[in-house]
Amino acid sequence: MATKKEKIQTEQFDVIVIGAGPGGYVAAIRCAQLGLKTACVDEWLNHQGQPSLGGTCLNVGCIPSKVLLESSLLYHQAQHAFVHHGIKVGKTGLDLPVMQARKDTIVKELTQGVAALLKANNISIYSGRGKIQASDQAGQYHVLVNNRKTKKTTTTLSAKNIIIATGSSPVRLQQAQLTDNYILDSAGALELKKVPEKLGIIGAGAIGLELGSIWQRLGAKVILLEAMADLLPVVDTTVSRQALSSYAQQGLDIRLNARLIDAEVKNKKVSVRYEARGKEQKEIVDKLVVAVGRKPNSERVIDKEFDMEINERSYILVNEHCETSVPGVYAIGDVVGGIMLAHKASEEGVMVAERIAGEKTEVNYALIPSVIYTHPEIAWVGKTEQYCKNEGINYKVGRFPFTASGRARANGDTEGLVKILSDAETDQILGVHIMALQASEIIAQAVIAMEMQATVEDIALTIFAHPTLSEAFHEAALSVHGRAIHIN
Ligand code: FAD
Ligand code: NAD
Repeated sequence: MATKKEKIQTEQFDVIVIGAGPGGYVAAIRCAQLGLKTACVDEWLNHQGQPSLGGTCLNVGCIPSKVLLESSLLYHQAQHAFVHHGIKVGKTGLDLPVMQARKDTIVKELTQGVAALLKANNISIYSGRGKIQASDQAGQYHVLVNNRKTKKTTTTLSAKNIIIATGSSPVRLQQAQLTDNYILDSAGALELKKVPEKLGIIGAGAIGLELGSIWQRLGAKVILLEAMADLLPVVDTTVSRQALSSYAQQGLDIRLNARLIDAEVKNKKVSVRYEARGKEQKEIVDKLVVAVGRKPNSERVIDKEFDMEINERSYILVNEHCETSVPGVYAIGDVVGGIMLAHKASEEGVMVAERIAGEKTEVNYALIPSVIYTHPEIAWVGKTEQYCKNEGINYKVGRFPFTASGRARANGDTEGLVKILSDAETDQILGVHIMALQASEIIAQAVIAMEMQATVEDIALTIFAHPTLSEAFHEAALSVHGRAIHIN
């Protein structure tokens, strides 16, 4: 029996961007600014089944986690810190539904803001899964857009340039399979409707530590099981050691060298078996979060016949300009690996857009700042001391603790330090490592300085406003040459 043929629209563009996370939507806007006719395809649907642009970052990542980190910190401070400032607030109470609703509103406003930005730049938005087909003789690639609700291809888009920005998804563990209510990924952990009495987290990376901080401040007993012997091995060890001790004082129970055996739901609890110190151990928790890294969303964007190089871990292979093995097809952000950060994805998006438009833009991969938004925050850029030692670099170190900062004392928040590493011969800054309240803001000064190839002497000669937390950066620079003023 003949079926009624679906009418498929075909549209022509200069550039098609697949994925509207911080990589894709920024790339699309930059393409449009440069006069390129641009389409952006994204498949994300919110709980109401509506398209929601912004990718992982806005929907279930950077933004909702920072909203809850801020709310939970205020709650914790109202309970434990206000009293030291002479503020009496009576009995503090938690209204988790209001806290969650505030987060949902911020996410909704920001995702709608991305849609408005794309529209204002005359970018055509398509909701659905985009799949790239092989190019035709005219060198045009075709992208089929499949509606996620109807599972039907609604549109074919054509362009000579494609930017793949399809991001990543949480790694799943065979030994701890997700269940609706008990074993969760990071997105599920941001949606809890009740504070669990005991929360288990597998993985003490950025996600585990941020989510653990949120729920611990709201009253949960949090246990993190981390397979590695060291916490945050990519962080400078001076900072990671101080951080481990600070987290322990806050009540985060971080168990290193802990290898998950399995987890299963029993009697409305999760029973977790793991190996530590050569012995099998057991822990019963109310909820378990799996936060063991993220994997690239590469398979879902490429047709089987499309011959593009992908590595054994499914990352799309690209060169330093984000060019894939297929001419005219670029890939950016989490789907190509490297550090999985929103600002790295965005900068790659800008670079690719500008290179398509004929410019020679580069990304300075050596100077991408990283931040972990715990309390205190941890932020760094450039080389660590362990790297300098291993590489035989002749370096100098300067440090300044926040206990010696007037502003930190005024804030009642003196944990942490600024550490600067510099080249012993050239005086150039090699790396800056900060643990502090607002380390995320202070680190930007270090990035700018390093981008301008500043020496430690340049920072020493710069005037910093008093009293500010940033003065610690100045003092750490002075201390490289043994001339810090406010420390012996
Ligand atoms: P994504 O943001 O993942 O966006 C990809 C988009 O492509 C998604 O909308 C997806 O639905 C869509 N897509 C996928 N396949 C297709 C297809 N075939 N067709 C159409 N659309 C498709 N990073 C930071 O820098 N700072 C932070 O504070 C931070 N916090 C985080 C907290 C959490 C809990 C998590 C999970 C992540 C966090 N990250 C943070 C990491 C950050 O979210 C990612 O690095 C960033 O979102 C990557 O951007 P992207 O554009 O590459 O991909
Ligand atoms: P991650 O790689 O940072 O940390 C995962 C941790 O899980 C590692 O320490 C790893 O040793 C551990 N692990 C892996 N398998 C394990 C097992 N079976 N048992 C116990 N431990 C195990 O990954 P993540 O924390 O899931 O974050 C994913 C990505 O998202 C990161 O690349 C990060 O850059 C990004 N992110 C960034 C921020 C931020 O910038 N503030 C916040 C959240 C996430």
